[in-house]
Parts: sequence; structure tokens; C-alpha cells
Amino acid sequence: MAGKRKILIVGGGSAGWLTAAYLAKALGVAERAAIEITVLESPEIGIIGVGEGTFPTIRSTLKFLGIDETQFLRATAATFKQGVRFDDWLHAPEAGRRHRYLHPFEAPFQTDGMNLVPYWLLQEPATRTPFAEAVTIQSQVAAERRAPKRTNESGYGGPLSYAYHFDARKLATLIQERAVALGVQHLRGLLTGVELDPDGAIAHIVSREQGALEADLFVDCTGFRAELIGEALGARFHSVRDHLFTDRALACKVPHERADAPIESVTIATAHEAGWTWDIGLEGARGIGCVYSSAHLSDARAAELLRDYVGHDDFAARSIPFEPGYRPQQWVKNCVAVGLSAGFLEPLESTGVVLIEAAADMIAELFPHSGPVEAPARRFNALMTARYDNIVHFLKLHYCLSRRSEPFWRDNADPSSIPERLRELLGEWRHRPPNRFDFVIDLETFAFFNYQYILYGMEYPTDLSAARGDFPHGGEAEQLFARVRSFGTQAAADLPGHRELVRAINRAAS
Ligand code: FAD
Repeated sequence: MAGKRKILIVGGGSAGWLTAAYLAKALGVAERAAIEITVLESPEIGIIGVGEGTFPTIRSTLKFLGIDETQFLRATAATFKQGVRFDDWLHAPEAGRRHRYLHPFEAPFQTDGMNLVPYWLLQEPATRTPFAEAVTIQSQVAAERRAPKRTNESGYGGPLSYAYHFDARKLATLIQERAVALGVQHLRGLLTGVELDPDGAIAHIVSREQGALEADLFVDCTGFRAELIGEALGARFHSVRDHLFTDRALACKVPHERADAPIESVTIATAHEAGWTWDIGLEGARGIGCVYSSAHLSDARAAELLRDYVGHDDFAARSIPFEPGYRPQQWVKNCVAVGLSAGFLEPLESTGVVLIEAAADMIAELFPHSGPVEAPARRFNALMTARYDNIVHFLKLHYCLSRRSEPFWRDNADPSSIPERLRELLGEWRHRPPNRFDFVIDLETFAFFNYQYILYGMEYPTDLSAARGDFPHGGEAEQLFARVRSFGTQAAADLPGHRELVRAINRAAS
């Protein structure tokens, strides 16, 4: 790469525009003439337009891009997300008895000298407070449908960690506007061909409307079509269907029951006989989708489950098939894939946008201003592969601890379907809780405490009884548990209702 560098991003979905905006900001495109970033997208193909849940990292990304939080919330019909509530994952509803647990974003409460987790593990399982409720005030705040912040709190800040639920199409439009303001050029056109040079790198691409387009770095954001990385360069797709069985979603939007109905500030993930259903409260509607394994459930039965969940059939549902997995080589020669062209793992923990953020950040850091591209490509591929593998482990954890009896759930609990590393960790976690040395933090989307919420939400038996003497501060721990309870009550009373905060934000706009 010498002289002026050109980055050509093909695809204008969330991946294309987020990557464009992030690179433009990080590489200072508006201030320097040395780098040019262009997005080519085909309006006739369109974007996938699903993906309503996010992860707290989105706050720093939006802030980095210079987007005002209130402007973002209004433009994307967004609401606040404080975590995911899992209903019926441990066992199916029986005789009116239902199991539920929360995976909140806030880490367990901890003081310098005191970690509450072992003391919770040493309490009597039949009578102790559920894990998330015992260790963080966010549980109570979310259960009472309160917002994670007050109206007067600064943008992207507040007392509790949070992310958002939003309309994915509106997000792509907002980020597009920001990217263009940051100096990104926008071309409309259909990619019809890719020419390779003798080394197998991309020489140029061909667009029906724009002709031949050259670049130093091509970014494939063409979604599941993977026009560059897959079709042209043949980068192998690694399926993880042996571990994660879901491969279809049936998605719809329905209005709230009443205009003033409370809005949940968590994603609700309700398990069904062969997968789960998402339920996301947006500003003007609920996004609902049935995720399932086509090997265990027919499309007709999935449609029935969705109808039963919604309570009527007055909606249009869209079927979205997907193959769970990723490409181990996401950066090949002068082409790097970001978004669905690089891979997709089911939406249970909303990792689609997180992976886009991670990839954009890494491309910006590893961008070969001059010199060869092979070393950054190797590094990128190793880091992204590790990230995907870790997410596979984390998602599998949700399924393999279930005691449900349907074939889908029994197959998920079969040890042969559990990745070896996760099996090893589960063995260790019988005797101690997950800790920060279990994971290489830099590669992680999910930290050890995220694992704790899933493990103990699913009643995993970490047995510390033989080591009871190693935890002599039971009295102090009890006081801290009581403080978490009373802070939770106070926070739920002090924070505004979620619907009220969303309404106040949008009312101020009109
Ligand atoms: P797309 O949105 O498909 O965009 C592809 C772009 O490439 C389009 O602009 C298209 O026009 C262009 N293109 C394609 N071919 C050509 C061509 N030949 N010429 C020119 N342009 C072309 N993520 C989350 O973070 N949270 C969630 O809750 C979540 N839920 C999901 C649920 C489901 C069922 C699915 C399938 C995904 C979900 N995701 C979620 C993932 C999320 O939707 C994607 O990561 C995100 O939308 C990025 O998509 P993309 O930009 O890679 O692809």
C-alpha cells in the first residue's frame, strides 16, 4: 500500500455502515486526504433488517462516533436493555410452576475484600435468594420495569450498565448519515463481478452502475451472500451446528397491547420445545421471533408456537434461515469480512453487532498504513476465531444445563455436543465458581461473571461445602447481601419507569 489508500466497503447494512463510520473516525478521514473510504451498496438487495438487541459495548461505539444518545434513541425507536431474562430454560412449565432467571449486564456487587459469590454458593439451595437477585441491584430494577438511568443523567452514562433495543433498519440509516458526515463516500450499485490478480488478491470489483472499482483494502459486508470473502475468494465456512442446533428464525412485529403498556427493559427469551422465542420491547412495538432447529421442529409447528406466544395471528412473519458458524479466515489477502459475511451465531445473547464492533476496532488498529498485509491478517483471523469460539461456548452453556425432556434439549445436554473446553470448565466449576483466569479477557465478549449468571441461574451445583472453612466472613457477607437488597429497593423507587423515561425522551423531540 503506497500513496493514497482506498478502502472499499461492499454492503450497506449495519456491518457496512458501522465499519465505515468507525474506520472514518479512527483513521481521521475527514481531516486527512491520505485515506478514502467508500461504501457500495445495492438498494435492490436491501439489508437483513433484524437484530434488535445489543450489548453494552454499543454505548462506547456510539459515543466514539460522536452520536448524541438522545438523538440515537429517538432516531432508532430505541429502548433500554439491562440484560436477558430466560424463562422455562431449566424445565418446561409444569402445574403452573415456571422457572426464570436473569442475566443482567451489571457485575455482581463486590467490595475490595469481599466476593459474595462463594457465600451465596454456601447458602442452602432450597431457600436462598436467586443468584442475580442476591448479588446485584439491577435484578430488582429490571423486575420492576424501571429504567437504568434518570432523565438528567449524562449521555451514555448512569448508575447501571445497559445497552439498547432498537429498530435495526433505523440504526443503519442513522449510522449511514454519521458515516457520510465523517467523510465516507456513498455509491449505489450492484456488485456483479470480482477480478483477482495473479496472487489471488482482489484486483478490482465490477458494479453494474459504477463500473470497475479498485481499492487497497476491500471490506466484505454483503451479509449472508458473502460475495467477496466466500464467492470470490472461497474462504471456508466452519459450521458449528454440532454444538448449536438452531438454524431458523420466524420474526414479526406486533403493537403493544396498549399505548401506555409498560415496556420491559430486558430481552425476554422463552424456551420452547425446540429452541426459544425472543420478545423485545421497542418504543412503538414489540419485536418477537421464534428461533428453532429445523432438525427438531417443522416450519408449521414453529409458526404455531409463534402464534401461541403472540396470542393471535394478526401479523406477518418473516422466515430467516441461517447456518450457525463462521469463517476461520475472515481476512484473506486484501479483503476482510465483517458482519454476516464473516459468520453468525444465533441471536440468544445479541452478539451480531458486538462482533462488528470488535472487527471494526481491530481493522482500525491493524490497518496496514504501509507495508505488507499478511501479518495483520493472520492476527485478525486468530483473534476473531478465538472470539467466535468463546461465544459458541457461552451460548452452548445456556442449552446444555437444561433439564427439559424434549429431544432438542436432550441432544443439547448430550456431552458429545458440548465443546471440549467447555466440558473441562464445567468439570472445574463443580468445585469453584468461574473466575477471571478462566478466560483471556482481551478475546472475550463475555467475562467470568456472565458465566456465573448463566450457571447459577440454571442451578448448577458448584459445591464449596468441603472448603467452608476457607470462607470465614459469613456475617459480613450477610450484611452485604442485605445492603444489595435495600439498595435495590431504593434504586427501584428512585429510578423512573422504563416507559416513562422513553416517553420523556421522545416527547422532548416533538
Ligand atoms: P445485511 O444487513 O444483510 O447487509 C448486507 C448489505 O450488502 C446490504 O446493504 C446489501 O444491499 C449489500 N449487498 C449484498 N450483495 C450485494 C451486491 N451483490 N452488490 C451490492 N451490495 C450488496 N445482531 C445483534 O447484534 N442483535 C440481535 O438481536 C440480532 N438478532 C438477529 C436475529 C436474526 C434472526 C438474525 C439472522 C441476525 C440477528 N443479528 C443480531 C445479526 C444482525 O442482524 C447482523 O449482524 C447485522 O444486521 C449486520 O448485517 P450485515 O450488515 O452483515 O448484513
